[in-house]
Amino acid sequence: MRSRFTAFKLRRHDYLINTIQARKVSLTEESFDTRINWLGLKVITSKKGLQNDENGTVEFVAFFQEAEEENSKRFHQLHEESSFKKMKGHWIYIDGKPLKDIKLERNDQCFCNSDKKFKKCHGG
Ligand SMILES: [Zn+2]
Repeated sequence: MRSRFTAFKLRRHDYLINTIQARKVSLTEESFDTRINWLGLKVITSKKGLQNDENGTVEFVAFFQEAEEENSKRFHQLHEESSFKKMKGHWIYIDGKPLKDIKLERNDQCFCNSDKKFKKCHGG
């Protein structure tokens, strides 16, 4: 999961395309909106997905800004439960169920790894 997020962040779309189950979607470079800046990732829960498992799910929230929102405090959430399946020893993304935005606590650490509280950072 985190490796996919890192790939998003670094715009390694080739990696994302290769780890998506090929028969379900045909992704190309154009499928990704390159105007999006990923700010942070919060993993809520994960089930299975360990070394001896054949499948797993990860519930996560990815925070992002659109290019024109850069340097502002505006952000969006992608809250999703993703299913993965192990194929030939590699975890492959199967699909994702979109979920409602989560509530962010003002005194929690900000999702962007700034070491500031949410209220003093993106929530300020
Ligand atoms: Zn922040």
